[in-house]
Amino acid sequence: MSGADARAGFLHRRAIVKAIVAAIVLSPLPVLSFAASARQTAPRADRYAGPRAALVAELREQSRGDSDGATRIDPAVLAILARVPRHEYVPASERDSAYENRPLGIGYGQTISQPYIVALMTTLAAPRAGQNILEVGTGSGYQAAVLAEAGAKVRTIEIVDPLAKQATQRLRRYPDVEVRNGDGYYGWKEQAPFDAIVVTAAASSIPPPLVQQLKPGGRMVIPVGSSFFTQTLLLVEKDATGRVRTRQVLPVRFVPLTGGP
Ligand code: SAM
Repeated sequence: MSGADARAGFLHRRAIVKAIVAAIVLSPLPVLSFAASARQTAPRADRYAGPRAALVAELREQSRGDSDGATRIDPAVLAILARVPRHEYVPASERDSAYENRPLGIGYGQTISQPYIVALMTTLAAPRAGQNILEVGTGSGYQAAVLAEAGAKVRTIEIVDPLAKQATQRLRRYPDVEVRNGDGYYGWKEQAPFDAIVVTAAASSIPPPLVQQLKPGGRMVIPVGSSFFTQTLLLVEKDATGRVRTRQVLPVRFVPLTGGP
């Protein structure tokens, strides 16, 4: 090979290397721009599906660990928690914590309850399709959504007006849920009687208007006790003759039920 051939071969190889380098440097551009446009145009995937499934698995385990069955959670309720997007019921700043099994702040000094407690209260209330259910303490609207997912007609009362307004917006997807701003101590006379009443704030004693508005055969779940210490979650059952029986379920800690006489 002459010196000129060797030089021509060298130049040819340099041209090939340059072309390969250019291809490597330039080729990611279309890939990146495709990825960016896919993010903008694809329907928003539920990035919380994994954490939500993990939370439900944790609750299932917790429920299995209950030896006497008093705090066992209905699998149908777990199935509801697996589909209700709790992250849509918390402030944006709390979204990444939405599937931790604990209460979270929702503003105005109030909280969305711990998922385990929501699951347990729903199990105890035993909502059925078509039933008329009252919730006292709408808060974020999450418990009302869980009750509505069971097919019940839900009437829910919140004493803090901005929370009632926010929850009304969030619960628009459920035509059978009605939110009212007011004092739930007195129940919702025009919509009574109720198959079940779920009170999500701690009362010092069971409000008599709520007992009156419970149907014979109805159930009320309510935390009762001092607002400074732990309270006891009670299941109040009214039998067909109107007689009321109360069972203590478990110690809990709720924000206080304000209002009342
Ligand atoms: N169920 C709610 C949820 O899913 O987010 C959590 C409720 S938070 C623990 C208790 C709520 O009860 C608060 O939003 C509070 O403002 C409300 N509340 C307190 N006293 C009330 C009353 N007398 N009538 C109606 N709501 C009341």
